[in-house]
Amino acid sequence: MSLLTIGTLAFDSIETPHGKADMVIGGSCTYISHSASYFTNNINLSAIVGGDFPQEEIKALEDKGVNMEGLQIKSDGKTFFWAGKYHEDMNQRDTLVTDLNVLDDFDPQLPESYKSSEYVMLGNLTPDIQNSVLDQLDGSQKLVAMDTMNFWIDIALDSLKKAIARVDILTINDEEARMLTGEYSLVNAAAKIHKMGPKFLVIKKGEHGCLLFNEGNMFFAPAMPLAQVFDPTGAGDTFAGGFMGYLAKTDDISFDNMKKAIVYGSAMASFCVEEFSIDRLKTLDQDQIDKRFEAFRMLMAF
Ligand code: AMP
Repeated sequence: MSLLTIGTLAFDSIETPHGKADMVIGGSCTYISHSASYFTNNINLSAIVGGDFPQEEIKALEDKGVNMEGLQIKSDGKTFFWAGKYHEDMNQRDTLVTDLNVLDDFDPQLPESYKSSEYVMLGNLTPDIQNSVLDQLDGSQKLVAMDTMNFWIDIALDSLKKAIARVDILTINDEEARMLTGEYSLVNAAAKIHKMGPKFLVIKKGEHGCLLFNEGNMFFAPAMPLAQVFDPTGAGDTFAGGFMGYLAKTDDISFDNMKKAIVYGSAMASFCVEEFSIDRLKTLDQDQIDKRFEAFRMLMAF
């Protein structure tokens, strides 16, 4: 099945307790698409970059079977830029800079062939753009998921709530779920988010794993305990790419299959954090993914 991915292609500058990386490749759509490409080669990408974005990164996605017809290149513009700094506790990070640059003028026009994508992953992006993409879909979708972050809760809450009301799944981290609902208990936060629209909710808790809620049903998957988390940037997006990629591959949106998708997503995220940027996501193979999935099974079985 086809998967539409939308979000940012970006430059990131990252500082973690283990080192610094300046102007490396990042962006929600980059992580989602690389991750999902291990499950399906029927990915339709929609994003915008400036003339400064490296051609070889566009080619790297193309080589993974990602359809780039929906990529806009604004040759006189600058690519979205984000800088962040992680604390010793890497679940905590500060955003230092968010430069929207070309994202400010992004008005995605989905190619005709994208409009009937069965699965849709709206990555972290301006909620107005997420709404515009939802307006262009032909309504035949099997599952539409969206991600967001505190930045948009702060500056675009009305538009964000409008988008949330239109999707089947919201993926969000624990702090943002609390911010969005005013509820400290994640169970109460989940109940409020269900009332906002989504039937499914994934609450990501960084190194403490993630929770899947579906109107009364609940599932928990831990994160893989790792000796060293090098750079957590993109873990949430990589999770979302693995999760939606697996669902698009298996074309089964039952709660039981979603549990497996959650574990595949968590396995992909556990690779992402092992190196800076998308470096680890570029070198994976199916055998490594299957072994990590099995390691999760062992971790969770009792
Ligand atoms: P994550 O660690 O999964 O939250 O994703 C981090 C990635 O999201 C980075 O590579 C950033 O380029 C990108 N990013 C950061 N802030 C935003 C934002 N406000 N909107 C869209 N993408 C963002």
